[in-house]
Amino acid sequence: MASDKDIAALDGHPTWMEIDAAALRHNLAEVRRRVAEGVQIIASVKANAYGHGIQPVARILAAAGVDMLATGSFAEACALRQAGVTTPVLLLAGALPAAMGAVLEQGFIPTVYDLDGAHAVSRAAETSAPVFVKVDCGLGRVGVALDQAATLIDDIAALGNLQVQGLYTHVSFHDSRGMAYTRERLALFYDLLGSLKAAGVNIPITQALASSALLMGWRDNCTAVCPGHLLFGLSPLAPELAGLAPFRPVLRGIKSRVLQVRDHSSGPDMGTGGYHQNRRQRRTAVAPCGMNDGYRAPVGAHEAQVLHRGRELRVIGVSLEHLTVEVPDDVEIAVGDELVVAAGDGPVALDTVAKWQSLRPIETLMTFSARMPVLVV
Ligand SMILES: *Cc1c(COP(=O)(O)O)cnc(C)c1O
Repeated sequence: MASDKDIAALDGHPTWMEIDAAALRHNLAEVRRRVAEGVQIIASVKANAYGHGIQPVARILAAAGVDMLATGSFAEACALRQAGVTTPVLLLAGALPAAMGAVLEQGFIPTVYDLDGAHAVSRAAETSAPVFVKVDCGLGRVGVALDQAATLIDDIAALGNLQVQGLYTHVSFHDSRGMAYTRERLALFYDLLGSLKAAGVNIPITQALASSALLMGWRDNCTAVCPGHLLFGLSPLAPELAGLAPFRPVLRGIKSRVLQVRDHSSGPDMGTGGYHQNRRQRRTAVAPCGMNDGYRAPVGAHEAQVLHRGRELRVIGVSLEHLTVEVPDDVEIAVGDELVVAAGDGPVALDTVAKWQSLRPIETLMTFSARMPVLVV
């Protein structure tokens, strides 16, 4: 829990994110309700836990008993260990073969999708090492092609010291032919699993379903699922495909404190000089949440707002380190007051802020600085 002391420690740069531990646990429980008993949860915490702070998020998920954590970044995987998290870590594709020594030294499970990678892990492994093989079923990103997967798995077995502990894929839900393509590609992956099993190849962990499929209510016979978005109450799908309820936003707020309140009555007229030509009010307030913190000015005809004690104040400037808002005469505001720049819901909900920036909600989250302190509330 965030204490007043935590918040006071931010006085040197009072801009921070608050995340909701209860919502994260609730979302994990909702994922569990959607899969059969015994199906393992590999929680995707890549991209700084979808912008929510990988260390606090991983601690909460580990305590809630997820089976494995997944990220593509070696540095993030190390950060998990520094946070005291001992849950197994799957390294999604993201490292060059040259990194495999370090990956194994840290005890992370590497993803392999070609023979070069497999050789690198094999050379780095002192005795034996587990690997996951990633199959590309048509997303067109990283992976071994479906029709070459069985051969790669044979070749890996022939190296003698690698154990294919997992086989996984990630499918696209964004094609113009709708879900039919996704179903078709998944069916081919399940065929591959079937033929490997028939050939006596035993792979303990198999996984194909992530947030989109779980949100659509899909199930399969794999032994694991790997959700990311849903754990954070984010949807990877267009709203007309599936609503997000009952998942809840884990983002509580991105907040910043007022550094100065200015009265411009005796300054230059707005329009004739000064910094903010679009100022309508006599007063402004400034907070240290600028582009460096990841805040972005609204684009086009949009106007952006922040909340001060529940009331909307119009943003009139975003510079490298500062955010400036207008303050109407009837608003009482003081140095140190909290401004809510973005929140899980309400007038500055992430979705709304993203619209002002002409971005998708996840893109807006990704713009916020990963260096921002995260308080768990
Ligand atoms: C990111 C990722 C996931 C999680 O996807 P979401 O849509 O966020 O649930 C699952 N599998 C792989 C391979 C991924 O890269």
